[in-house]
Amino acid sequence: MKNIAILGSTGSIGTQTLEIVREQGDIRVWALAAGKNIDLLERQIREFAPVLAAVWEEKDAKELRTRVSDLSVRIVSGMDGMIEAAVLPQAEMLVTAIVGMIGLRPTVAAIRAKKKIALANKETLVTAGHLIMPLAEEYGVPILPVDSEHSAIFQSLNGEAGNRIHKILLTASGGPFRGKSKKELAGMQVEDALRHPNWSMGKKITIDSATMVNKGLEVMEAKWLFGTELSKIQVVVQPQSVIHSMVEYEDGSIIAQLGTPDMRLPIQYALYYPKRMPLSGQRLDFYKLGSITFEAPDLETFDGLRLAYEAAERGGNLPTIFNAANERAVAKFLERRIGFLDITKIIEDCMRHCKYLKQPDLEQVLETEHVVYEWIESRW
Ligand code: NDP
Repeated sequence: MKNIAILGSTGSIGTQTLEIVREQGDIRVWALAAGKNIDLLERQIREFAPVLAAVWEEKDAKELRTRVSDLSVRIVSGMDGMIEAAVLPQAEMLVTAIVGMIGLRPTVAAIRAKKKIALANKETLVTAGHLIMPLAEEYGVPILPVDSEHSAIFQSLNGEAGNRIHKILLTASGGPFRGKSKKELAGMQVEDALRHPNWSMGKKITIDSATMVNKGLEVMEAKWLFGTELSKIQVVVQPQSVIHSMVEYEDGSIIAQLGTPDMRLPIQYALYYPKRMPLSGQRLDFYKLGSITFEAPDLETFDGLRLAYEAAERGGNLPTIFNAANERAVAKFLERRIGFLDITKIIEDCMRHCKYLKQPDLEQVLETEHVVYEWIESRW
């Protein structure tokens, strides 16, 4: 029996994690945490019977307590509640499927409590990789990637300990706007950006795919996760999304992981690592697929990726500035208050103007987020 807790259980990754729990039948979910969706959380509590459930706001916690008063589950709220869910003694693994930097503190707490981390929340490593990776090493805690690209790299590294990596080839679908010009991008609306050609994901990450900021965040995540120099991480556009990433070794051999675009596969791999389990769903059919094509990313049009490389190169709190600016800009775009191209304009503006710190601690990382938000509110 596996014992887990899930932060972000009502989201895209969270619900797919629970699909695996449902399908496999040998995973016990001890804690669930979500933001606002208490209708779904209530259904999840009734189905999976956790001993603890957390929501963000106390008023939602109060409502949920009334709704599930026939059960013995304890309902908590706020950051303390998230942390309590993250360190619950009964769980040995934490799935961090929450969106945003809100995932940072609970992840730190879980590592200190020696929980294995199945990491979907990429913001954790993007903003605090310099703190998280040494902490995980200190506590002997594995960080198992859930992001499909990082899972693919992780799988391509299996059995290769001691062999030198020449390059990580991080694949990208190119998103819904691949091949478009800047002029065309200027007119893109929320509906256009949410129409991802291959993957079905949460709204925020889908917009990040359209700007290619997501790929930038993944470059930063890969740098920390695999301890690789930035110059050895190359983004390759592969529009069919069947090669989920590759590793090139110093003899020129390239090992790749392929599969249909189905997030349940990397989630399940992280949950059961190193074991592979059966998984229902479609399989790759190479006869039907016909061809797999490759191209270089267009850094001129998709300047989010260019800015991400710059942030990763300079490090410090610049990736946090990049990430926080993007989070706020995407929220504004989804609220239709700014245009599509304003997203990267806001990121660049924040990177040029918010105070740079070379070696930020956790508090400074979190403070940077507020500084960025204030800057954006005063200017945009
Ligand atoms: P979703 O937007 O679908 O879900 C986000 C989850 O976080 C929801 O459960 C939401 O709760 C919860 N949440 C939001 N704010 C809070 C808060 N203040 N307190 C507690 N919970 C909160 O996101 P995704 O599942 O798409 O993404 C989750 C993470 O995984 C992101 O970091 C993303 O980059 C990463 N990821 C996602 C992939 C995907 O395919 N979706 C692929 C690879 C990585 P509620 O809805 O109840 O408010």
